[in-house]
Amino acid sequence: MQARFLALFSALLFCISPALASELADSVKQDYDAYLGDLWDHFHRNPELSLVEFKTAKRMAAELRAAGFTVTEGVGGTGLVAMLKNGSGPLVMMRADMDGLPVEEKSGLPNSSVATQEDPITGNVVPVMHACGHDVHITSLVGSARQMVARKDAWSGTLMLVVQPAEERVIGARAMRDDNIWERFGTPDYALAFHVGAGSPAGKIDAPEGPAYAGADTVDIIVHGIGAHGASPHRGKDPIVIASQIVVALQTLVSRELSPRAPGVVTVGSFHAGTKHNIISDRAHLQLTVRNTNLETRAILLSGIERIAINAGRMAGLPEDMLPEVIISEESVPPTINDAVLAKRLKMAWAEAMGEDALFDEPQDGMVAEDFPYFTVDPAISSVYWGIGGTPQEDLDAEAAGGPMVASHHSPLFKIAAEPSVRAGVESTVVALLALMGD
Ligand code: ZN
Repeated sequence: MQARFLALFSALLFCISPALASELADSVKQDYDAYLGDLWDHFHRNPELSLVEFKTAKRMAAELRAAGFTVTEGVGGTGLVAMLKNGSGPLVMMRADMDGLPVEEKSGLPNSSVATQEDPITGNVVPVMHACGHDVHITSLVGSARQMVARKDAWSGTLMLVVQPAEERVIGARAMRDDNIWERFGTPDYALAFHVGAGSPAGKIDAPEGPAYAGADTVDIIVHGIGAHGASPHRGKDPIVIASQIVVALQTLVSRELSPRAPGVVTVGSFHAGTKHNIISDRAHLQLTVRNTNLETRAILLSGIERIAINAGRMAGLPEDMLPEVIISEESVPPTINDAVLAKRLKMAWAEAMGEDALFDEPQDGMVAEDFPYFTVDPAISSVYWGIGGTPQEDLDAEAAGGPMVASHHSPLFKIAAEPSVRAGVESTVVALLALMGD
């Protein structure tokens, strides 16, 4: 009975017939050949840095308007929101980030970037490259917009496409939230995004049923001391000794306070204090990066850092108004955690529409972060962030056989096989949207 119910339930949810699936694949391929390939070529040749994605935003606004969406520009800086209301039903948000990086392209691609731009933070003119594949994300978003308009009678609800600035500085999503994106356009029932990945098989899809990206916090600890002559330590409070005790005590957070099954990282990447051999300084400065894969771990690590720092000050006898300061930087992000049920549901839809072998299991061996959770954590929105492979299988095989290494993201050699990635980007997005909004 239950199995029959589940089968019926999934049939009702996905409604992606084999005929629709093969028609979708053909249609996306045609659009790539006729239109999206050139659009990707354009974006790849014309990358722009975080916060100054002016031409990219203009082009995206024009593309999404031409597709039939109502576009609002300048949301959270250069961000834009494109809306398509199509009867009653859920509000589903799909996000693509659009910024490039200050990297000089040496990928060898025929459409390599030779662009330069003034960095808005440093004022230096630097080479710019799409060295993280965000050109694939925005091209796919346009392709998905065109497909969803062409299929308006197959779904109902409201589609919100979000083109986000400054993901590489992990500040763009928050800027759009601070600009009241939900208050102005509605709070989504579901939020979706994908990232293309070098080192994974081109065109294949993976959606973790849980953490997709780590949370990252940048933390500064300022340890105040009382300066004195190095020969008279009893007349001061030595911040180097206090800060050293903090560094050592921080090692117990991961080893003694986290569950052995909960991954976390606390790295003190910088320790600065003092000017001379015989002076007890009055200040030490520690710089930390802190990583986690869930909000409980994050809370344990951040509150533990504060507790250790402050109490190391107390242990040294510092007055209460001179205790160490713990500053959590604005550039912090919570972990990206997929709704496991929704991830399962979308994987079933993708397998149904694109075949079982369209899916792969991406190995998770790092603690890289993303700013997408600014859209999904407060208020909590059911979300899935999936991965699409971007490297041809033969390149992966060659690397495995001891041949050339596949260049990583942010490398001058980084490259993505555009056609399979964009096509999988569009297909997987359209299938996910139809799974959520299909009639
Ligand atoms: Zn990226």
